[in-house]
Amino acid sequence: MVSSHFMSMLLKIGVPEDRLLVLEGKGGIVEDEFEGIRYVRFRDSAKGFRRGTVVFENGEAVLGFPHIKRVVQLENGIRRVFRNKPFYVEEKVDGYNVRVVKIGDRVLALTRGGFVCPFTTERIGDFINFEFFKDYPNLVLAGEMAGPESPYIVEGPPYVKEDIQFFLFDIQEKGTGKSLPVEERYRLAEEYGIPQVERFGLFDRSRIDDLYDLIERLSREKREGIVMKTPDMKRIAKYVTPYANINDIKIGSHIFFDLPHGYFMGRIKRLAFYLTEKHVKGEEFDEYAKALGKAILRPFVESIHEVAHGGNVEEVFTVRVKNITTAHRMVTHFERLGVKIHIEDIEDLKNGYWRITFKRVYPDATREIRELWNGLAF
Ligand code: ATP
Repeated sequence: MVSSHFMSMLLKIGVPEDRLLVLEGKGGIVEDEFEGIRYVRFRDSAKGFRRGTVVFENGEAVLGFPHIKRVVQLENGIRRVFRNKPFYVEEKVDGYNVRVVKIGDRVLALTRGGFVCPFTTERIGDFINFEFFKDYPNLVLAGEMAGPESPYIVEGPPYVKEDIQFFLFDIQEKGTGKSLPVEERYRLAEEYGIPQVERFGLFDRSRIDDLYDLIERLSREKREGIVMKTPDMKRIAKYVTPYANINDIKIGSHIFFDLPHGYFMGRIKRLAFYLTEKHVKGEEFDEYAKALGKAILRPFVESIHEVAHGGNVEEVFTVRVKNITTAHRMVTHFERLGVKIHIEDIEDLKNGYWRITFKRVYPDATREIRELWNGLAF
């Protein structure tokens, strides 16, 4: 149920009445609370309000982070998306998306789905200089949180050796969700010392060979890919390295039954287009084929083995928090996402942080494997 205060607020900021009523009726907008701050999050889109949009009690809206088009054949994709226009190329950092925003006197970190994340909100001051929000209270910093100690992502980029870090990749206006031009973002990030994604400069389609080299290097370095953006941020496209496609499959096949088939098919498809576009053959082709086969099969077989011996399909992850209560809040936060996790271990790092180890069990994947292993026939 969304309170009448929020319903009239949503009407006031321009959500059409008929759509609002439909959304409210089917749970497409949900009222939530974080440490006394009330907000509404959009689970579906409504007119200009994208999925993941958050509206606060004071009427301030942070629009959902938009979908980025994916290019699968790099050369032709670039031609289709950018024509002859130049575009900036940045690293696509493998982590989770956060929008950081100041509401009243609090700085909050919102997840892609529109939740205030208790963990990221507690830690965000470690990475961002809040002076920025004193000067620009109307702007939203969008970035990737990435590293080996992350609550949402199994692995981080290779250059984040411990804990987690923030990498800015977009600055948007509250209310409209309009992005600042690329150069302005680069300048503001430098001025306020906000860490950014790596920038590879301005390209256009005549430099496709340099882009191929870049993709190959990033793939060798076990990095996820690139995002290409026109200076005005009107056209944006992403491209993922063959390494990331195979590595995602490896991570996913551990929980094979918990993921839609499309998760695997999409990545196999992208890899096949890469191999074709780059004319990969002979020994190199065989290496990719072997890596893909292993990525699909090894973690899957390991999970079956685990369950066949009485265990569960599960994942263990750690995060660093300043207060143990934040860890408990994460358990509740995951519950609201329909995910069961529990705290396995708490370690005092003696530097003001606690390292919390969580375990997540996958009951559906476990049950499915158990039934098949026990001979269930179709
Ligand atoms: P969607 O398909 O809606 O774009 P997705 O959840 O499938 O999203 P991805 O395919 O991983 O996401 O790619 C988009 C995400 O990449 C962005 O939402 C953002 O979190 C992340 N990202 C990492 N680096 C960048 C960058 N330099 N520029 C833009 N986004 C980036």
